[in-house]
Amino acid sequence: MGKVIVIGGGPAGMMAAGIAAGRGRDVILLEKNNRLGKKLLISGKGRCNITNDTDVEGLIENTPGNGNFLYSAFYTFSNQDLIDFFNQKGLSTKVERGGRVFPESDSSRDVLNTLMSFLNSNGVRINTDAAVTEILSQENKVTGVRLSDGSTLEAESVILAVGGMSYPGTGSTGDGYEMARKLGHTVTPLKPSLVPLITREEWIHDLQGLSLKNVAVSFKNNNGKVIYDDFGEMIFTHFGVSGPVILSASRHLLSYDFRNVDLILDLKPALTWEKLDERVQRDFDKYSRKQFKNSLDDLLPQKFIPVIIRLSEINPEKPVHQITKEERKKLVTLLKYLKITIVGARPIKEAIVTAGGIKTSEINPSTMESKKIGGLFMAGEVIDVDAYTGGFNLTIAFSTGYLAGLNC
Ligand SMILES: Cc1cc2nc3c(=O)[nH]c(=O)nc-3n(C[C@H](O)[C@H](O)[C@H](O)COP(=O)(O)OP(=O)(O)OC[C@H]3O[C@@H](n4cnc5c(N)ncnc54)[C@H](O)[C@@H]3O)c2cc1C
Repeated sequence: MGKVIVIGGGPAGMMAAGIAAGRGRDVILLEKNNRLGKKLLISGKGRCNITNDTDVEGLIENTPGNGNFLYSAFYTFSNQDLIDFFNQKGLSTKVERGGRVFPESDSSRDVLNTLMSFLNSNGVRINTDAAVTEILSQENKVTGVRLSDGSTLEAESVILAVGGMSYPGTGSTGDGYEMARKLGHTVTPLKPSLVPLITREEWIHDLQGLSLKNVAVSFKNNNGKVIYDDFGEMIFTHFGVSGPVILSASRHLLSYDFRNVDLILDLKPALTWEKLDERVQRDFDKYSRKQFKNSLDDLLPQKFIPVIIRLSEINPEKPVHQITKEERKKLVTLLKYLKITIVGARPIKEAIVTAGGIKTSEINPSTMESKKIGGLFMAGEVIDVDAYTGGFNLTIAFSTGYLAGLNC
């Protein structure tokens, strides 16, 4: 059997290379960095959220970017197969909140080491510092690749697994799009997804670094329609908002170009407006002799207090017992309905994933082979697929890599 070249040593490329070599193929893995898996190492804040403990339907539901394209990939090599794969190779895993699966050791290094020994034991030849610039073909059949030093390598099959274009420092610089375009493939518009959001209000800057654990967020378009809501953790930054609920929400704001959208924060989601009003009244009774600015300690994180005081327009020096019912109601409404204007998103290089990519209708979903060029396979983020946070993006990389490795 002829040679297989895998371009890209990320999770998709490593899985594809190991599986192909396990089938007896002669496999070379070409990686432009001086080592494999740079993005994998920083994934999950260095803990690597490998996959999610859900069923295949759950995987698809959590993949808003062309999830249906992935049925074959997920059924051939599911999240449970992935967990078994790692467990059988000695990497224990654990399940955390939201079904997120991590290595027991909390170390992405252990995930990478497991994949490296899988490659080595299956006899994959690894060439680092090897940047591919072009995929070569003749009569719509792949023949090999050209490297940045001008040299060429022949192959019967080529697996393109170079990732997207976010976090370019990890090597994912979007090279695959041009290579695929040159071969006649369509690349759908590339946009940041799972990306921090930029906000308009000045007061956001005063909250920089503040993390809120249990907050309800809802996003409304300019007709007042709720386009997304969620509950969980978020953080204020120097430019706006970030954190898990914001990153997931950003996927839904893609079609709005991250504009003309308001973020409504409910800082007290466990209480109805009426219950919160009662709660504030109790606090005001307790602190009736204090000034307003000293009455909110039980209700809000310290950093938030001056901001809420300013927005409430209640005189901070005012004795609590002089606060009117209208003023108190305004305060309660602020806590339940704090409006923040979204004016944009951070650039794609700061996104967790790239939405858009090589058009799925030009790839056979059962094999990951190109419908345009025989012997060319795609795997991972370079394809126009993207998912929410929770281990779904790595699952896509591993499952599509597996399918490409199986069929090349
Ligand atoms: C900060 C961060 C945290 C993340 N955390 C998680 C998480 O916990 N769970 C999750 O599911 N997803 C996570 N993701 C997303 C996930 O890491 C990616 O979706 C996944 O790595 C994509 O895998 P891939 O193999 O397709 O591409 P990549 O991991 O991007 O790998 C592509 C490889 O190809 C190489 N390459 C590129 N161009 C060339 C070329 N021309 N020649 C040779 N080699 C080339 C690159 O150097 C790179 O090593 C995270 C992403 C980021 C940025």
